[in-house]
Amino acid sequence: MITVDEGLALVLDGLLPLGPERVPLADAAGRVVAEPALAAVDLPPFDRSAMDGYAVRAADTAPGISLRLAGGVAAGEVAVAELEPGTAARVSTGAAIPPGADAILQSELAEERDGSVAPTRALTPGTHVRRRGEDLTAGAVLAAPGDRLTLTRVSSLASAGVGEVSVHRRPRLDLIVTGSELLPIGAPPEPGRIHESNGLMVRLLADRAGARVVDHGVIGDERETTVAAVSEGLQGDVLVVSGGVSVGPHDHVKPAFEACGVDEVFWRVRIKPGKPLWFGRRGTTLVFGLPGNPLSAIVCTALFVLPALRRLRGEADPGPRFDRGRLGEAAGPSDDRTTFLISKLVPGADGVLEAWPTERQGSHMTGALGESDGFAVAHHGSGSLPAGAEVDLLRV
Ligand code: AMP
Ligand code: MG
Repeated sequence: MITVDEGLALVLDGLLPLGPERVPLADAAGRVVAEPALAAVDLPPFDRSAMDGYAVRAADTAPGISLRLAGGVAAGEVAVAELEPGTAARVSTGAAIPPGADAILQSELAEERDGSVAPTRALTPGTHVRRRGEDLTAGAVLAAPGDRLTLTRVSSLASAGVGEVSVHRRPRLDLIVTGSELLPIGAPPEPGRIHESNGLMVRLLADRAGARVVDHGVIGDERETTVAAVSEGLQGDVLVVSGGVSVGPHDHVKPAFEACGVDEVFWRVRIKPGKPLWFGRRGTTLVFGLPGNPLSAIVCTALFVLPALRRLRGEADPGPRFDRGRLGEAAGPSDDRTTFLISKLVPGADGVLEAWPTERQGSHMTGALGESDGFAVAHHGSGSLPAGAEVDLLRV
């Protein structure tokens, strides 16, 4: 059976970021840049006043001097006439500084009387002037390929006059949930049936990883229905089918993949929970068959599906993403598979997260999952780990 790392390498093998598309800046937050985004203007775009006050020639200023008030410039206006020596022009914060002026006398340091202004002190050139281009020059790269458009970057691009950016296309993930026993979320209980949760989790996780999810809903465990759904679902970048990948008489997913021409890359991984994970490809579409047990589905999605989505959307590091912590008590892998132990995560006295595995461990233990904060990872081959051992933590 292949290991988690081998499985992940097979999933990511040859996988390239999706092609670029131009999107309005307002829709670009969180996307990954495909082509450099350049500042369209200098920042500031022109010499601006940093204060409400008077534009002056610094050389004219000294206590006891009086400067003739020659008009004014409000924010958004432009003064064309040169500021004559011995004069001052009223300016508001952000206004363009008239040609000839080289300093701003802030209102608090001036006395205005009878059409003239008296500075209370001498100014040096540049006082309270925001120089054109002091922050950035037009053409500067504000976001490079592979950069994620954080909100601060988006804000900066808006200031720099950028209206559209070239980002990697969002991967499309088609989702099919199988199981005749599944009840919709919140439905009244029925004998022999359980509430569906995998579809919801995959949607939430995929959404967070930037995918566009096309949800094909829940289908019953019938051969024809499964083949039809898989055939319909093979249109995007990734197809995820939940449940039905084992070898029971009601498991139709693998035969359906085969009938639809999906080539198997691997089936079964040395992981707990999640061993029955199936992965294959048809053309450029990646196909995942998730084990139906909810904890298996969560772990396999976090470990295999999300890295594929991140790679497709252009992220430099596809993950999977772990935090670091330590075991609060001794624990280890079970069945010598890399084991994800449902754990309470509590900060220790030094702030490091301590993982306390819950007593109930099992791929169906959704109640224990609700009482936990994540998973501590005990790698296959590590044997029993003592309390205090450093471990990876998976938090979803
Ligand atoms: P399967 O992989 O289809 O054999 O399912 C394994 C176990 O997970 C069974 O007990 C199913 O009832 C359960 N299961 C399958 N799909 C889901 C789902 N979407 N939500 C919750 N439990 C599920
Ligand atoms: Mg099933």
